[in-house]
Amino acid sequence: MSLIENVRDFFNRKRKNETTEKAPEGVCPNCWGRHEYDGEFYSFMKGQNDNPSKEIYNSFIADVVRKLDKITINKNTYTCDTCQVKYE
Ligand SMILES: [Zn+2]
Repeated sequence: MSLIENVRDFFNRKRKNETTEKAPEGVCPNCWGRHEYDGEFYSFMKGQNDNPSKEIYNSFIADVVRKLDKITINKNTYTCDTCQVKYE
């Protein structure tokens, strides 16, 4: 799956109150937590009365994904470029 699909899947699970990992697949959990994207998601949903239109929801996800450039785990080194933590 692409990063955008991973992020959408992650947030979809949260919407359904399903258990998730600490961060979407391929994203550094350390940095994801530090940027408080979960909190951003919850306040976004609250602002949309928990029922955003598909268009608004997708554009929120696209916005988040655009910011994830530096905190995706490098597929070759398994290392996060920002915090240098290694994931194997
Ligand atoms: Zn990191």
